[in-house]
Parts: sequence; structure tokens; C-alpha cells
Amino acid sequence: MTQPNECTEEYAAMMDESDPLRSYRNEFYLDKDMIYLDGNSLGLLSTRAEQALLDGLNDWKTLGIDGWSKGENPWFYMAQQLGEMTAPLIGAEKEQVIVTGSTTTNIHQLVSTFYQPTAAKYKILADDATFPSDIYALKSQLKLKGYDPANALVRVQSENGMLAEEQIIESMSDDVALIFLPSVLYRSGQILDMERITAEAHKRSIIVGFDLCHSIGAVPHQLDEWDIDFAVWCTYKHLNGGPGAVGGLYVNKKHFGREPGLAGWFSSKKEVQFDMSHELTPDADAGAYEIGTPHILSMAPLLGSLAMFNEAGIQQVRQKSLRLTDYMITLITHELSGFHFSIASPLDHKQRGGHLLVQHTHAASICKALNAEGIVPDFRAPDFIRIGPVALYNSFYDIWETVNVLKRIMTEETYKKYENKRNIIA
Ligand SMILES: *Cc1c(COP(=O)(O)O)cnc(C)c1O
Repeated sequence: MTQPNECTEEYAAMMDESDPLRSYRNEFYLDKDMIYLDGNSLGLLSTRAEQALLDGLNDWKTLGIDGWSKGENPWFYMAQQLGEMTAPLIGAEKEQVIVTGSTTTNIHQLVSTFYQPTAAKYKILADDATFPSDIYALKSQLKLKGYDPANALVRVQSENGMLAEEQIIESMSDDVALIFLPSVLYRSGQILDMERITAEAHKRSIIVGFDLCHSIGAVPHQLDEWDIDFAVWCTYKHLNGGPGAVGGLYVNKKHFGREPGLAGWFSSKKEVQFDMSHELTPDADAGAYEIGTPHILSMAPLLGSLAMFNEAGIQQVRQKSLRLTDYMITLITHELSGFHFSIASPLDHKQRGGHLLVQHTHAASICKALNAEGIVPDFRAPDFIRIGPVALYNSFYDIWETVNVLKRIMTEETYKKYENKRNIIA
């Protein structure tokens, strides 16, 4: 039997039939009139995440204060429990992972813990392509320690949305104390070689932390093997934890015992927390970097969604994710040639994260035209369409249909009806 041509609907259907993860799609709330390709901004709700939240509410309803120690998932240990469930996704031991805070507060926590400047070694090395919140946090941390970010924050320059590892390594001068970089760049989707960067930094006695927001749940990591010092992430993108879901952090066990930069009563060793002493006895592991009372209702959905990742396996998720973006690239190349789209993400699998960035002069108008057809990508100024197909709920047919609609929008020039300008949330 000959294979159907890749650009046909039959081919998309064939890919869906042979997809080992296809059953997970049924567990998500998908609007039948919508193709959702924005899972890299906010993942969709699954029935398991929903049930986990309802169970949490029910514990509150029926147990009151006892929910902290009783019920199926006692609240007092939920941050640890979720840390254990996250560990396999990032190649870590459970004691090194805790679900707490948000990406930004976790950056504050771990930078304030690990950034210990001296007169000779006081700079922080970052990049000019990262998410603004990371830079704002680094600047505040520098100012809190008495440094001027104009001098003490060094940003490696990107070119066409990509960072060159050679350039990052060249920037590791003797005066750099700490490096903080994204694992996957939120725009281009480039994956940095975290192992190589960390090895080079350690040769120069520099501490290295990574922001895994755009890789966790899409790309496997080996944080222990790569000897990363610390990492932070959010759980509402690829991990489908819900809007504002509680984030997470990793601290390499060789650093256990370091005093938390920002302490609170949840940094405490659990056995003595309720002694209510004014002398903090920090937890012996990553729990030391919790601060206050965990936001239980914003973590409970993760009990359901992380269970799905552990069941499906992050390697399988990665394989399908690459197949989805490969397929999108193939279709854009064949079906939209002549319409001036270009792929702004790395083509090499080793360097490509979970989403694709597509450049077009009329990107804002095209996104609005796609929205009008029930397709949800996101727009990144000035002229990019970001497409984040998600292994657990997107199908190959979703990709095929998206390109099909795009072709129609371009051929019929319907995008010209829309202003080429971003909305307030883009
Ligand atoms: C999504 C994202 C954030 C968001 O931080 P919050 O504290 O969760 O608002 C920060 N940094 C990066 C790189 C992100 O992708």
C-alpha cells in the first residue's frame, strides 16, 4: 500500500490513528468548534485536573482545618507530593523538587539564596531574549545587594531570536557570580545546551540556574546529570495546571543546607514548624525554599495533570511534540509557499522546543483572521505567530486543518479585514 501524500487529510488521519497518546485527548475539555494551539501560554483543563480540584474543595467542605493532615492528599504535604510527581519530568530526585510560588517569586527566592556577590565576582549573566519578568527580578536582586544593573547585569545578545552558546561561554568572565537563562526561549523556541553551559560555568566557579517555563512538560531534562545548580518553572503552560497554578523549583542536593534568601514559616522543617519558635530550623531539602502557606486550591489540579504526564511518559510526549511541529513545518513549506511565511524556530530537533515561531509581515492580522475561524495561536510582536501544539491533546488533524484554513485566509486575503496591530493581551 502506498502512503498518502503528507499534505492530505488522509495522511493526518493516519498519523492520528497510529498515535500512542491519542486517548489522552478525550480527557481534555476541547471546544469542538475550536482548534487550540496556545498550550504554551495556558494549557487546557483535563477532567483529571478538574476532579483533583473538586476533591480538594470537598476536603475543605468536609474536613475544615483537618484537611491539613487528613483526607487522601493532606495539604501540609502537597507541595512535597507534587514535587515527587514532577521529579521524573526533569531528571531529579524527589527531595530536590518542591511545588511552590510562581516563576517570578521562585527566581527571587533562589537568586537571593545563590547570588552571593564579592568585590571581584558580582555580575549576573542573562540574555536579551528572555521573558521580561526574569530580567525585572534579576535587576531587583542586584539593586537589593547594592549593585547597579546597568553595570552588573550582563545580557548576551541574541541574533534572529537565537542565542549562540559560544557567545554565552565567552561572556563568562571572572567577575560573573551567577548565570540565569531560559531552557527554551519563549519566542523562538530554541533549546539551550544546558549541560554544556553548566559545565563551562562550573569550570569558572559560576552558579547556574535555568528557567524551565517553556520546556517543562514538553521536553525531558536531566537536571541532576547536567549538575544544574537550581531551576524554576510555572505549571500553567505545558503542565496544564490552570491559570495562576503554583510553580515549582529545583535545588541540587549538593546545595542542601543553604539558608533560604527569603524565609518564612513554610521554609521550616515540618516536624518543628508548629513549635512556633522564632528561630527557623530550615527543611533539609528543597522544602527550605518554600515561604508561606501553600495555595492549595491552585495546586490541587496538578495532582491530576501530573499523573497524566507520569503515565504517558515525558519521552513519549517529546516524541509526539516533535512529530507535531515537524508536520506543521512540512505543511507550511509545501502548502503555503509563495505566501511569505518563514519558520523562525530551529529546524534541528536537538534545538527545537515544544512550539514554533512563524514570521509574517501581517502576523497580527493573520492571527485575528485565524481567531475568527476558531483557531487559537498567539501573536508575538512585531510580526510573529506562535504555535504551541500539545502532545496530550492536539491531533495531527488540528495541524492539517490549521494550515488548510491559513491557506484559505491567504488566498482569499481575508486577513486584510483586520488591523495589523496586537490586542492588549497577546
Ligand atoms: C511564563 C513565564 C514567566 C511567568 O512568570 P510568572 O511568575 O508565572 O508570572 C516567567 N518567565 C518565563 C520565561 C516564562 O515563560
